[in-house]
Amino acid sequence: MNTANIKKFLKANIYWIGLGLSIALLITMIILAVANKSTPVEDDDFTPVVTPEIEFSNPLTDLTVMKDFSSTKLQYSNTLELWQAHKAIDLTAEEGTDVYAVLDGTVTEVTYNYLMGNIVKLDVGGGITVVYASLANDVPVKVGDAVTKGSVIGKVSNTAKSEASDGAHLHLEVLLNGELVDPNLYLDLSEK
Ligand SMILES: [Zn+2]
Repeated sequence: MNTANIKKFLKANIYWIGLGLSIALLITMIILAVANKSTPVEDDDFTPVVTPEIEFSNPLTDLTVMKDFSSTKLQYSNTLELWQAHKAIDLTAEEGTDVYAVLDGTVTEVTYNYLMGNIVKLDVGGGITVVYASLANDVPVKVGDAVTKGSVIGKVSNTAKSEASDGAHLHLEVLLNGELVDPNLYLDLSEK
């Protein structure tokens, strides 16, 4: 078949060639549309899964849980004499026991409030803030301090009036992007 013949063939069959190409194009578009549909859409109902890679060192030398975290389950408060959720973990310790920074971080708040006593907030990065409450007076850190993991940021006491009946203990909260989350996600209470 020489060039002239090819041209003649194309001219004679232009309709069928066009139709064939159109069908091929249509099939390609259908395949692409189906393939696109099976790709998960990640906008509307996308919820980030919390899989913490971060692990805290211990806030106290001995970890004895007095009251564990509960976001919905109600626990009885001896002090307030009512049932309430406890979005924190309470660790028993003697009055004056050293409390440690669980990671390197920056002190963002040192306050006192009647219900929670002396409070130190420590920003440890990754959107995580650790809140230490019921600390003794004379907190050794101040706002803006850069602290290293394991350094003393306060001492255990019984200054949280809302938990006064529980005796001296550390009330520890963890905020992830401003939301209270279970400190057990970051603490390893099992092996120590
Ligand atoms: Zn507590």
